[in-house]
Order: sequence, then structure tokens, then C-alpha cells
Amino acid sequence: MPIVGNNMVSVKRKNRSAALRLLQEEGSMSRKRLAEKLGLTPAAITKIAGEMLAEGLLREGDTLPTGSAGRREILVELNPHSFCALGILINLRQAIISAVWLDSTVIYSKEISIPASAPAEETVKMLSRVLLELAEEYKLPKEKIVGIGVAVRGICSSDGRVVIDSFGALSEKRYPLCRRIEELTGYPAVMANNVRALFAAQMFLAHDKSAGAQFFLRCEYGIGASLSINGQIWHGVSEQCSEIGHIPVIPRGGKPCSCGKSGCLETVASPMAICEDARIAFSEEKTPLLWARWKERDLSALQPEDVLEAARNGDLGACEIVDRAVNTLASALKSVIYLVDPGKIVLYGKLFDNPYYLSRLLSEMREGVDSRHEVSVEKSAYNHRLENKAAALLAVDLFFRDGGELCGTS
Ligand SMILES: [Zn+2]
Repeated sequence: MPIVGNNMVSVKRKNRSAALRLLQEEGSMSRKRLAEKLGLTPAAITKIAGEMLAEGLLREGDTLPTGSAGRREILVELNPHSFCALGILINLRQAIISAVWLDSTVIYSKEISIPASAPAEETVKMLSRVLLELAEEYKLPKEKIVGIGVAVRGICSSDGRVVIDSFGALSEKRYPLCRRIEELTGYPAVMANNVRALFAAQMFLAHDKSAGAQFFLRCEYGIGASLSINGQIWHGVSEQCSEIGHIPVIPRGGKPCSCGKSGCLETVASPMAICEDARIAFSEEKTPLLWARWKERDLSALQPEDVLEAARNGDLGACEIVDRAVNTLASALKSVIYLVDPGKIVLYGKLFDNPYYLSRLLSEMREGVDSRHEVSVEKSAYNHRLENKAAALLAVDLFFRDGGELCGTS
């Protein structure tokens, strides 16, 4: 890592950033308390708070008695509607365009279909156009918009500017997504992989600064994950840290995977794989309960919940598929426990709302893990509620990191 010093501008920025984060996490407080908590002098806080009040980023709140006769302290707090951020989340054949205030309240969120065969440039032009139209429709003043957060499926370059491979979400590989969105909209943009963006949003909202490692697992269409160490997301040398869904689990003859290989964890344990396997096994002999319920219906509409319900009721074929999916996923997660010794594994995705599936997974994960590992495995408290804000929160997070200063203002 390069060794760099701090000049006065970066010190000021760091102090403003720390004050903003503290007020975002703990709510309003007096300047005196702010100074104590940040380890800064009251004079320094008075100056910083004064600047941010003048900029509208902070506002004055209630007054509190100080204890000394007749004196009162005015609390300061984040002014959540002083600025906002825009977001674009790009999944496979679908995107979500959104906007949030600084306190993560969603201003709007719109789901958009992406045609499978559309060239990347066409898709990005269409998304940028909708993004600008929505900002105008909701009358968000240009000067209030801190930037655009872009979250995209797949692998991004280490500088967060280029999508190396979106595994089919954008038709082109090595596409300069961040730059193109900046050029098409006129706003600065920040980009991350979609699962990392969801995890960052989870930590932002949970105010989770826990020391040690935390692992975030998302099972939705496929399987994605992200690892944080001391609150910082770990990217890996080739930006592929925690690509757990693409661990090869079937050495030869496995099903083809979206990554181009075959036999990956995702092809066995993802919600998509559970449905695919049930469709392959679907017959009166192998899956009698599924057969009775689905023989006259369109099997392409089969959902993971249908297979789980059949397994819960004793359908042998469905049980076999669910057992294999659960055991393989649990095995991969146990490797994570032994490899990085995380304090927490956060589960995110619709599948984890199913009590039968969740209890099966948790029970399997306890098998063979010794009790000295102090890991809690839990469903995200924000399950299904991060997609409409995760991308935009990337821009809010960067704004806070930069001390609440808009790009090019200092
Ligand atoms: Zn794969």
C-alpha cells in the first residue's frame, strides 16, 4: 500500500466525514457531545458544524438544558433532505432506477425490463434517459443530487469504472459503464458489483462496524456473496472475492453455469437450480406430490417454494433435490467459517423466508462445525428491502466519505 500523508484539506474532509457518519448513525446531538465522541476540540467542531449548517447539510434541532444555570445547548442533526442520490441496479434482464435522501428514505424506485438481445450501449442509453426523466418528474434539483450509484451483476474492474463481465446482464464485456453513465447524465457515478452494493447497504443501515469478518450470502436467481473485514468490503486481487456461487462442486458432468464453466455451486444450490432439477425429475414415479399438483399446469411457472412445499410433505424426488441443494450450500458456507472465521453470516433472499428451508440449512450448518466458532447465522433484517436503495446508497456513502462535499467543490 502506498504511504501518503494528510494535508489540511484531507484532515478537514475526514473530520467532516466522521461528524456526518456519527450524526447519521446516532441522530441529533450537541456540539459538545459530538466533539467528545470524535475526540476533537469544541472549537474544531463549532467550525465544522457551522460550515455544514451554512451549507444546509446539517440543521439545528431541539435544545437541551446544560446543567449550568439558564444555559441551553442546541442539538445539531443531519438534514436528510438537503441532498439526494440516484441509483441504477442492473440485474439479468431487469434494472431498478431509484433515488434516496441522505437518510436512505426512498424517493422513488422503478423496475425496468432489459431486452435480452439489446446491445450494452442501447441498454445504458435507455437506463440513463429513464433516470433523468424520473429525477425531473420528481422535481429533484440538479444541485441537490450528489451523484449516481451503479450496482451491476458480475465482475467490475478494481477502479470501479468498467464492467469486466456482467454474465449476460449487459451484452458487451469490458464495458465502461461508469464513464458512459457520467457522460450520458452529467452526474458523477460510483459503481460496485450488485451483491457488494446490497451488503454495503445492509451495513450502512445496520450501522454495523463490527470488528472481524462478516459474510453476506445472497440467493435470489443465482448465488452471490460478499465478505467484509472490519467493516470494509474485501475485493480480492482480481475483484472476485467471495464468488462462492462459482465454486466447482461437481468435478465432471455438471450443468452449465452462467459463468461459462459447469458444475458450479449455483447449478446445484440456487433457487433457479432447485426449480430446474425439479422439472428434470418431474414424473409420477419420482415426484408424485409435485406431479399431482402440477401435471396439468405450465411447469415453467414452478417456483422454489413449490418444490420446498412438496419436500416438506414428503415427496421423495423433491426431498432429494432440496437435500442436495441444502447440503451443498451448507458445505460451502462451512468452508467460509473455517477459512475466514466470520462473526456473522447474513442470509439475503426470498428462499430464506421459507421456514422449512431456513431450518434445514441452519441445522445442516451446525453439523461438523465446532462450538469454538462464534459465528451467528441469520436472515437479513432488511430482506427484500435493499434492492430499491442499494445502488443510490453507494453514492450517499461516497458523499459521506468525502465529508459531504460535492465533487469538484474543494
Ligand atoms: Zn459458475
